[in-house]
Amino acid sequence: MNAQGSERVPSLGSERVIPVRDDLRALEGYHSAQVDVDVRLNTNESPLPPPEAFRDAVAAEMSRVEWHRYPDRAASGLRDAIADLHGVDTDQVFVANGSNEVLQSVLLAYAGPGRTVATFEPTYQMHAQIARVTGATLVEGERAEDFTLDTAEIRRVMADSGPHVTFLTSPNNPTGLVEPRANVEVLLAEAPGIVVVDEAYAQFADWTALDLVAEDRPLVVTRTFSKTWSMAGARLGYMIGPTWLVAELEKVVLPYHLDSVKQIAGRLALRYSDEMNARVKQLVAERERISEAMTALDLDVFPSGANFVLFRSGGPAGRDVWQGLVDEGVLVRDCSSWPRLDNCLRVTVGTRDENDRFLTALAGVLDRMRATKETP
Ligand code: PMP
Repeated sequence: MNAQGSERVPSLGSERVIPVRDDLRALEGYHSAQVDVDVRLNTNESPLPPPEAFRDAVAAEMSRVEWHRYPDRAASGLRDAIADLHGVDTDQVFVANGSNEVLQSVLLAYAGPGRTVATFEPTYQMHAQIARVTGATLVEGERAEDFTLDTAEIRRVMADSGPHVTFLTSPNNPTGLVEPRANVEVLLAEAPGIVVVDEAYAQFADWTALDLVAEDRPLVVTRTFSKTWSMAGARLGYMIGPTWLVAELEKVVLPYHLDSVKQIAGRLALRYSDEMNARVKQLVAERERISEAMTALDLDVFPSGANFVLFRSGGPAGRDVWQGLVDEGVLVRDCSSWPRLDNCLRVTVGTRDENDRFLTALAGVLDRMRATKETP
């Protein structure tokens, strides 16, 4: 103890900086550049807020929240509603603060030091990031040039590394590609550990792995309220899996991790499925419209089953196209410096008006860049 009564911290030179865990030193956090622009199409959110009636219903129930009490620890009402939606048992449902926390809970329970986690790259970066944070060893399988995944590669990774947890993302982020059912089936047949199918964008696609979930199969399917349900601000996600796996997650999740307000919001949101389905339909139609328009601009456009589209800038450097769009007041995701994604940008499907602004800006930027290139 020193004179002030606090414990002595060893001094590291002039600054008293305590080094982080050795294995975290080289790790960077997950960032998405935020720029103040009119048209924000960079984080795959819903362009529309939830229905007005939903907001009124949440406000009414919130007035009855017992603020001095902890929330329902088992989040029973919310889990019952999700179970009803998917026709499964409540014991098969795990809920958390965003599907990221669901993924983290699975990895805390089944990955960690001495264990291996497999991904097929390029894919959602948080799978690898959270796996590393838990101290697990990461194995990266490779997708083909067109971002499809060969079953031979699935077999190779499973045989070579025997991962404890393997991720597939369908539709994949940032590529947008829907994983064929056959790939999930091959993975389930070959994987020695848990298989996580991340379905953050599944409502925009034409199939789901949910009907493969069974007590005798180590498969979990993760979902989020952030996209289809227009609730990114609430941070709510869930998974459906075998009851024995859901029960194990109790060991790693913090007590009362899901607050009362979120439980109410999630439960009430599910009453507006018709409105949400109508929005999904509208976004899918817009996705097809902008994909065609981008193809007509001579861009390499990847087929998407999600609420975003990945494209390659072709001649001009991806970074320059991104900057050109920002200068026109449109923000998309710059993936061009990510491994395997040279010159790639990802645009979230917005409202019709936002999409038009994006397409007009993109056509202008490409025209200018292509003209400059042709000028000797
Ligand atoms: N999985 C995938 C594939 C995603 O793209 C995202 C969001 N970017 C998430 C999970 C996390 O979503 P949330 O934590 O908002 O539920």
